[in-house]
Order: sequence, then C-alpha cells, then structure tokens
Amino acid sequence: MVRVLILGGTAEAAALARAAAVRKGVEVVTSLAGRAGVPDLPGRVRVGGFGGAAGLERFLRDAAIDRVIDATHPFAARISAHAEWACAATGIPRLVLARPEWPRMVDDCWTLVDTIAEAAARLPECGRRVFLTVGAGEVAGFAAVRGVWFLVRLLKDQPPPLAGCHIVTGRPPFSIAAELALLRRHAIDLLVTKASGGAATQAKIVAARELGLPVLLIRRPPPPSGDAVDSVAAAVAWIG
Ligand code: NAP
Repeated sequence: MVRVLILGGTAEAAALARAAAVRKGVEVVTSLAGRAGVPDLPGRVRVGGFGGAAGLERFLRDAAIDRVIDATHPFAARISAHAEWACAATGIPRLVLARPEWPRMVDDCWTLVDTIAEAAARLPECGRRVFLTVGAGEVAGFAAVRGVWFLVRLLKDQPPPLAGCHIVTGRPPFSIAAELALLRRHAIDLLVTKASGGAATQAKIVAARELGLPVLLIRRPPPPSGDAVDSVAAAVAWIG
C-alpha cells in the first residue's frame, strides 16, 4: 500500500484525489487549509495548517506518508516551501503538480507586475472601473487606491472588503459568455488578476481579449524546486 499526501485547495488536487483513489494499492490523504470550504473527496481529508514546516514534518512521520504531491495553487508559496523542507528532512519523495500558465495571444493587452502592491500602485492610471479577482485575502491591498470603482469577485459573500466596491460571488469554473456579460454589465475598463493559470478561471482572460480590455496580471512567485508535472494523469503515474 502506498500512502500519498496530496496538498490541495485546487481543482487539480481534487481531480488528482479522485483519480488516485481508484488505483489499487493507493491510499489518499488530502490536506486543505480549509479557507474555501471542504469539498467531497475520496480517502482521508484533513483540514487546517500543520503548524509550520516542522509540523508538516511531524505529520509526515506520524501518518506514515510514503509520497507527497504538492498540488497547491501557484501562489501558495509558503505551504510549497514547507513541503520542500519537510520532504527533504524525511527523505519522502515529493512531486509538484504545476498548473500551466495561460498562453499569451497577440491580441492580449497584458501588463505584468510582481506584487499586489505594484498592481495597486498602477491604479488609477490604468483603469477606473476595475474587475478585481485576486482572492479575498489580497483585496485589502487595494484599500488605499482612490478614484477607482471596484467590482470584486469572492468565493462567498462577506462584508465589502473595499469601501464602495460591488461584490459578486461565484466559484469556478466560469464560462466565457458569463464573463463577457459581467464585464459589459459593469462597463469594466481593466481586469486585475493573478497569473493563476488553469482552465477553471481562464474565461475572464478570454473575455478581456474579446473586448480589447487591458489586464494587469500579477506574476507567479518562483515555483517550488524539484520534479514537476503539469497533468493529473502524470501525477497519478508518478505514484507508481
Ligand atoms: P500559503 O500562503 O502557501 O500558506 C499559508 C499557510 O496555510 C501555510 O503555512 C499552512 O499553515 C496553511 N496551508 C496552506 N495550504 C495548506 C494545505 N493544503 N494544507 C494544510 N495547510 C495549508 O497558502 P495560501 O496562499 O494562503 O493558500 C491556502 C490554500 O488555498 C492552499 O491550499 C492553496 O492551494 C489554496 N488556494 C490559494 C490561492 C491563492 O491565490 N493563494 C488560490 C486558490 C486556492 P501551517 O504553516 O500552519 O502549516
């Protein structure tokens, strides 16, 4: 029996758990931070932080984990660094399931920035009616911006994170038609988002392209080191 820990919180991690769980001789443990709810997954699901890299190392030993697949979001750099450290400390093999970046097309009008702070500093000269999809935890980084109206998309309803903003709630995947309608309905003139990649949230990028809208795109942090694959099938094959 191979016991594999999947560090999750993404659609790819959930797909991996489902695909790995049906393999004979594979036991799946999925770990979630738990901030976006807990999906229905096969195998064991544990929720909440480990208490740093040392806590993760302890968990790997106590739970007798044989392999780790880091299928976290490309912007979840801390848990990925902890996984790198804890796997090195225990000698447990680790694989990164990395989401491909969105391809840049000739019609795309992207400005790439390194941080949320840099994106906020570019406003309002880049746009006055901004569609902001950076995740609830990052919206506060735009609080000091003046002269901009924000349409903020969140996973669930919560008190407005920015004064005077309009909130829409929704969970990926989103369709191109729905994204086009949203951008048009609110007369958006700039999309601000992370370069998350992946199919589930790509429709807004396609919709912005179709409308000729500029996009302020926050670059990914450096990827974790080590072996990486970009598909669920390849990650399942790696388990052995
Ligand atoms: P992060 O900054 O890398 O991690 C912060 C802390 O949250 C970690 O130190 C760890 O706490 C805990 N944590 C994160 N992922 C965990 C997991 N899968 N299982 C157990 N603990 C976890 O992560 P984040 O950017 O806040 O993202 C949190 C989760 O949301 C991740 O699982 C990620 O895949 C998902 N997510 C993130 C984004 C994004 O834009 N960042 C978008 C969509 C989904 P301890 O140190 O106590 O272990």
